[in-house]
Amino acid sequence: MNSQELFERSQKVAPGGVHSPVRAFKSVGGSPLFFERAEGAYLYSVEGKRYIDFCQSFGPLILGHRDPDVAEAVSSIFHKAWTFGACEPYSLELAEWITHRIPWVEKLRFVNSGTEAVMSALRLARAATGRSKILKFEGCYHGHVDSMLVKAGSGLAGLAASDSAGVSQEQASNTLVCPLDDIESFNKLMDDFGSEIAMVALEPLPANFGLLQQKKEFIQAIAKKCKENGSLLLFDEVISGFRIKMGGMAEDLGVVPDLVTYGKVMGGGFPVGCYGGREDLMNMVAPSGPVYQAGTLSANPVGMVAGLATLQKVEKEKVIKSIDGRGREFEEDLNSFFEEKKLPIRLLRKGSLFWMYGGQADTPRSLGDIPDGHGEQFKKIFHKCLEHGLYLAPSGYEVGFLSHAHTPEILSEAMQIIKKSVEEVYEV
Ligand SMILES: *Cc1c(COP(=O)(O)O)cnc(C)c1O
Repeated sequence: MNSQELFERSQKVAPGGVHSPVRAFKSVGGSPLFFERAEGAYLYSVEGKRYIDFCQSFGPLILGHRDPDVAEAVSSIFHKAWTFGACEPYSLELAEWITHRIPWVEKLRFVNSGTEAVMSALRLARAATGRSKILKFEGCYHGHVDSMLVKAGSGLAGLAASDSAGVSQEQASNTLVCPLDDIESFNKLMDDFGSEIAMVALEPLPANFGLLQQKKEFIQAIAKKCKENGSLLLFDEVISGFRIKMGGMAEDLGVVPDLVTYGKVMGGGFPVGCYGGREDLMNMVAPSGPVYQAGTLSANPVGMVAGLATLQKVEKEKVIKSIDGRGREFEEDLNSFFEEKKLPIRLLRKGSLFWMYGGQADTPRSLGDIPDGHGEQFKKIFHKCLEHGLYLAPSGYEVGFLSHAHTPEILSEAMQIIKKSVEEVYEV
């Protein structure tokens, strides 16, 4: 069966034919590809066509698909157990590895996804402060937690409106939404609602609505205001943790959060997330404290050993630095081509994350910097790339992921494909 036939079948048994919305190609149009196999930097469709993969499962695969060292760790645990539902040494090793390297993660708790990590951190922040409101930033994604599925309301500045059916107005009304890169609005919200705000949640590198790099001073000012106000600061590093630096954006910026959430890279491609931070806060989590949080498959040994093998390799082989070096060449080469051909597009990059941007801002930092036609423009580039054997995440608001498996040779082939595709789209 080809992809189209499989998608028709899928639509009969799953909403929209998928188990996570972006996979359905709705924002780029057409029928999604079905893949049967992946290796390193490549995906193989059921039709047997090979694609250079810049989606990399949306972030967990910093080493590429089926890295041999991770595969070995997984196959060795496979012969011992799949799940215990009891104490075991594997999660201890991963927890020690992380807490020994990241000083602001004094204690942590493993969960099964980024969403769960954020949801639990939020409950903890409310318990620790005795306050109910939270503040998030427009364009930051924190998983499908009810109170985070909100957008800026049209009425009173700061008050949120539900951004998904099924999220009640009561849930939305406890969330305040602030634009990115706008310290005045942030300070005003904190001054107006200060004593009610339990937690300020932030992607310190917003990478779920394009790539919106924030000024260091903005993040520093947020941290300072949180401290003055007694609101806890959550860095949601599900995408940036162990990717931008080992200690994520907190290390990159030199700003220490009270709580942090990780996922993606940390599980090496298996369903793993965690929340952690100050010991006094984490001690409030059950069974040592009153904040209930549990999971049948939490700290699943397969995910634990895959995560540890991934992080050890990232550290040992200086993967972050190496991808950054290759990424710089990728960025510079493509941007000088776009400039030379006078194409209205640029590649923005931070470490292993990149995003194609066609707007006016030097560095886009907030939703207002993204031009209206962005999605339409991306759609065309996406399909041309696909035609030429390169798979980008199927939405113009998702970032691209470089991995350790994207060798200079593969990147050079990818650049040829992107150049050709963009030229065809802009007909130069
Ligand atoms: C991906 C992501 C999440 C959600 O993680 P899931 O594992 O998909 O639930 C939360 N926050 C950020 C910053 C993310 O990038």
